[in-house]
Amino acid sequence: MSKLFKRTKILATVGPSVFGAEKVEEMIMAGVNGCRLNCSHGTNEERDEQIAWIRAAAAKKGRSVAILQDLQGPKIRLGTLVDNHLDLVTGDELILEADPNYEHDGSKRVPVQYNLAEKVKVGEPLSMFDGKVKSEVVEIVSETAIKVAILNDGFIMSKKGLNLPETDFGGDILTPKDLADIEYGAKQDYDYVALSFVQTASDIEKLKQLLLSHGSTAKVVAKIETKKAISTDENLEEIVKASDGIMIARGDMAVEAGAEVVPIVQRKLIAMCRAHSKLCIVATQMLSSMVDSPEPTRAEVSDVATAVVQGADVVMLSDETANGKYPIEAVKAMKKVILYTQGHSRVARMEHLPAGGSAAYDAISYAAARLAEKINADLIICQTASGATATMVAAQRPNVPIVSVTPIERVANQMALMYANAAFVRPYSPEFGYDLGVELKESGYLKPEEGKKDLVAVIVSGDKDKAGSDTIRVRKI
Ligand code: PGA
Ligand code: MN
Repeated sequence: MSKLFKRTKILATVGPSVFGAEKVEEMIMAGVNGCRLNCSHGTNEERDEQIAWIRAAAAKKGRSVAILQDLQGPKIRLGTLVDNHLDLVTGDELILEADPNYEHDGSKRVPVQYNLAEKVKVGEPLSMFDGKVKSEVVEIVSETAIKVAILNDGFIMSKKGLNLPETDFGGDILTPKDLADIEYGAKQDYDYVALSFVQTASDIEKLKQLLLSHGSTAKVVAKIETKKAISTDENLEEIVKASDGIMIARGDMAVEAGAEVVPIVQRKLIAMCRAHSKLCIVATQMLSSMVDSPEPTRAEVSDVATAVVQGADVVMLSDETANGKYPIEAVKAMKKVILYTQGHSRVARMEHLPAGGSAAYDAISYAAARLAEKINADLIICQTASGATATMVAAQRPNVPIVSVTPIERVANQMALMYANAAFVRPYSPEFGYDLGVELKESGYLKPEEGKKDLVAVIVSGDKDKAGSDTIRVRKI
C-alpha cells in the first residue's frame, strides 16, 4: 500500500496554464497536494477565483489541499518601458527612478517600483533580469532616484526583477504592497503565507504579528533566497526556528549568492527543518524544461529524486504549472519520480530527536515511527487537533504513510503538505482515528497487502483537551 502513497508532496503554482475549476481538479488528481498563488503576478480578484476553484475541486474529491499565498517581499521590479525593451552596453549609466509620476520616454532613465534611494549605498552591486545585466550603484541622484553603471552588454524588459545582494533593508523588508496583500489575504482562505527575501528571524516575527492582528490562522513560510539569510548557520537556524516552514528558493538564491552554493544550502536546510520539525519545500527549476517539453531532462529527474532522498516534505513546480505548455504532464512526471525513489531508497534516519515541544512529546513520535517499522505496520494514524502530533511524527520520516485526522479543516489543509501525510476532517471522538481507518478501508482508499485481510495501524492519540499525544496503540483494521 505504501508504494502508492506519495511521501514527498507536490506544491504547484497556479497561473494561466491551469485556468478554471476543471483544469485545477485535473491537476490535483494528477498528484498535487498544495497550490501556490503568487502575489507577484495578477490581481486579488484573480487569486480569489483560483481559491474558489481549488476549494471546489478539493471538496468534490474529498481531499485536503493546502493553499499558499506567496508574498512578493522586496522583490523590486522595473516599471513599464517604452517598447517593453531597452538595450544597454557596458559603461552605460542608467537612472532608476521611483517617482510614480515618471513615465519612461525611451531614455536611460527608467521607472522602478521601489524607492532604492532610501536603501542603497554607492558601490553596492545591483543586477537586473535574473542576473542577466550586472551593474553597480554610482550615485544617489535624488530622493527617489539612483544611478548605476552597467557592467555588461545586454538588455532589460518591463517589470523584470532586480537583485541587491549586499543591500541592507534595515529589518524593513515588508513593502506597502505586502502589507496590503497580508491584510487582504487574511480574510481569504489561505493555509500558509510565504514571505520572499527574508533576511532575519525578525522579518518572520513581524509577519506573524501582522497575520495575528488581522485574525489569520495561516502558518508562515520563510523563503530562503538572500545572501543575508544564508550568511551564517546561526542566522539560518534562527529563521527556521521562527517559521513554521521554509522554502529553498533556489531561483533568487542563485542570483544573490551564486548557483554553486545552492545544493549545499539545500542539504543544510533540509536537515535543519527535520531537526526542528519544520516544513521544508524545495523550489524552482525542478522540471523547468517541461515548460516547453513533455519530457523532463535526466538532470531534472535526478534533482527531484535527490530532494526525496534528502527527506524534503515538498517539491515545488513554478512556471511548469503556472505558464508551461505541459502542466499536467509535469505533475505526473514529478509524482512518478517521487514514487519510484521512495520505493527504492530510504530517507536517512534522524540522529537526534527533533527539537521543539516537550521531551515526552518527541519521544512519543520517535517511538511511534520506530514501532511502525519494527512491526511492519501498514500505516500510522495520528489523532491531532493542532497538527503538532502529525508534524512530530512526520519529522521522523517514517517509511509508512501517516493518516491524520482532525476536527479542524484549516489544520487538515495545512497537513496536506507534510511528509507522508494524508489528512482528513472528521468530528472528534475518542476513537476517530480507528474509525477513519475502517472507513478508508471500506471505501478502498486503504488496501491491505496482497494476500492479507487486515491493515496493521499504529495509532497515536492524546487527550482531546491537552496539547500533544500520550498514547500509542497497535490496532488491526
Ligand atoms: P519566486 O521564488 O518564484 O517567487 O521568485 C522562488 C525562487 O526565487 O526560487
Ligand atoms: Mn524568489
